[in-house]
Amino acid sequence: MKYFVILILIAKTVTHLSAQSDQSLFNNHSGHHDWAYSGQYGPDHWAELDPEYRDCNGDLQSPIDLVHAVCQAKKVDIQFHYHPFFVDLINNGHTLIEKVVEPKALELDGETYTLLQFHFHTPSEHHVDHKKYPMEIHFVHQNQAGDYAVIAVLVEYGIRANPFLAHFMKSLPTHVHEERRSHEKADPMEALPRNNHKFFYYKGSLTTPPCSQNVSWVVMEKPVQATEIQIAQIHNILYDDNRPIQDSHNRVVYLADY
Ligand SMILES: [Zn+2]
Repeated sequence: MKYFVILILIAKTVTHLSAQSDQSLFNNHSGHHDWAYSGQYGPDHWAELDPEYRDCNGDLQSPIDLVHAVCQAKKVDIQFHYHPFFVDLINNGHTLIEKVVEPKALELDGETYTLLQFHFHTPSEHHVDHKKYPMEIHFVHQNQAGDYAVIAVLVEYGIRANPFLAHFMKSLPTHVHEERRSHEKADPMEALPRNNHKFFYYKGSLTTPPCSQNVSWVVMEKPVQATEIQIAQIHNILYDDNRPIQDSHNRVVYLADY
């Protein structure tokens, strides 16, 4: 089995998380089956690997292709309350070593969410108008009821270095089980596009087992840029860690504006 590597960046702030939720986001050590992005443990088989992964065959799965032509316009209230923090980079496919959170980091559609963690997918998981991007950043949040909100930022190739990524490019942990701390503070706001009040909004799932179908997806309409070198450095660690596009089953996708 190809060794699955995930790069998790954890906010080093405030309080420790007690919920089991983000543990299940990266599973293993939780007694659940290993999974991968290809082969016999790949996405086509996730639902059969473990009874807890049943949702992976559900009707509200992510990612999906986001198509402007069939989106509905909607006003959705969104407020970001992020703060800069030192980032611990953990290169670990099997355990989430530390769980640290930033409470009340996000208000979305009347709900308040805590920021749990963020991580990368190379290439992107969501497509826009049938087009994929070289990278996608996920900021994973959770509310008190246990439901998730994920802010997704698509990244395209550009000439100028991405300022958010620049904070920790020199401290990327290239080996599994390696953890490295950045020496500069990073602010999630730096990762968002300038117009961060226009986004695709739909109900979907976690894109990794257990594929729980309680996720409000906010995919920024406009991509941000990063250099080819920045994206390649991350891809060299992660390989391809993108779940294939899922059937939308005629779900309503909103193009939201605040
Ligand atoms: Zn993700």
